[in-house]
Amino acid sequence: MDLYEHQARELLEEAGIPTPRAIYAQNSHDVAEATKKIGFPCVIKAQVKIGHRGQAGGVKLAHNLDEAILASEQLFPMTIHGHKVNGVLVAEAKNIIHEYYVSISVDRTSRDYDVLATANGGTEVEEIAKAHPESVKRLHIDPLEDFDLAAAKHMAEQIGFYHADGDQAAEILLKMWQTFHSTDATLVEINPLAKVGDPDDESSKSLSALDAKISLDDNAAYRHDGWQRFVDPNEGDPLENKAHALGLHYVHLDGQVGVIGNGAGLVMSSLDAVAGAGEAQGTGIEPANFLDIGGGASAAVMAESLEIVLSDDKVRSVFINVYGGITSCEEVANGILEAIASMNNIRPIVVRFDGNKAAEGLEILANAANPHVLVAKTMEEAAAKAAELAANADNGGER
Ligand code: GDP
Ligand code: MN
Repeated sequence: MDLYEHQARELLEEAGIPTPRAIYAQNSHDVAEATKKIGFPCVIKAQVKIGHRGQAGGVKLAHNLDEAILASEQLFPMTIHGHKVNGVLVAEAKNIIHEYYVSISVDRTSRDYDVLATANGGTEVEEIAKAHPESVKRLHIDPLEDFDLAAAKHMAEQIGFYHADGDQAAEILLKMWQTFHSTDATLVEINPLAKVGDPDDESSKSLSALDAKISLDDNAAYRHDGWQRFVDPNEGDPLENKAHALGLHYVHLDGQVGVIGNGAGLVMSSLDAVAGAGEAQGTGIEPANFLDIGGGASAAVMAESLEIVLSDDKVRSVFINVYGGITSCEEVANGILEAIASMNNIRPIVVRFDGNKAAEGLEILANAANPHVLVAKTMEEAAAKAAELAANADNGGER
């Protein structure tokens, strides 16, 4: 999961990394209120999960209330590189003396952690690496060794922070590492990590994280209560997002029987049949989703569909209802077996085929003799079977 800047900054602040005071706002009224607390000048920054906001006009400086409101009215309707703006951050504007770049990420090849850093920060690191390759230092943190303040100081020296910034840089590196580790992140990036303050007053100068990017490891979500605090209600259902990215027509519902069919009408009838069966059986079992694989679906589409449906932990059985027209039941049968072969945690699948290559499809399933796959002759029979299996599944099905 990628975090918005305002969320990433929250984590940095919690770790004790200095960041300018900032307030997240979702409309112009709240921006005006925020400026009362932040003061002027302030920067108003579009919140989108993509870099280069500055270059795209997504970061605006405001010296007074009128400018702040004008900026927010320009930012809220914006789409930056295909990402709709989700709120803005009103942040205290700092006088930047120098910009550094620092990131920690997982290095899958060397199985350790990469620290990328340069004293030429500000722009995206890929660009810095092109323009000044010699300035970008790539260092490593060994997962088996302690990364403590002494190690952080040594690293800051290698990176080449200016003399006066070295000690504070070391503390920030250490806190970045602690954030990275404790949140199960795959990336913690500060760009710019800026030296800010009054150029004529040495004592006012310090390092501050003006922009941050953090990605969290989805596989570790269970250790963090699913990161409820970071879930974006505007982003919708994660399973729906995944399905839509694959081009599947999927709607996530609340029940226990996954439903896959071809053609919206047939899938709707299948949902009704499942709900009807649940009612008739007195179990209250309901459909878990709507998924229409459309016409002419390949084995691959069927396999992807089954994976999506089964990645819903609430699903205890699946009903696949295909009326072969352009779609061949043979392809669908192969897709089912393909998906099963590549997955753990399969739940019972009840299949009903009719139409194009139905007999061939059923034969493929019969030959495979997979204990998870059952067949039924009619839609009603299949729905009743799937509902019954879902009701009788022990809670192992719930994982
Ligand atoms: P990005 O373009 O998405 O990486 O957004 P950033 O938050 O990094 O902002 C882009 C640029 O805006 C920074 O590199 C700075 O040059 C500038 N910027 C951001 N915050 C401030 C600030 O507080 N003061 C000043 N003077 N410039 C800022
Ligand atoms: Mn940036």
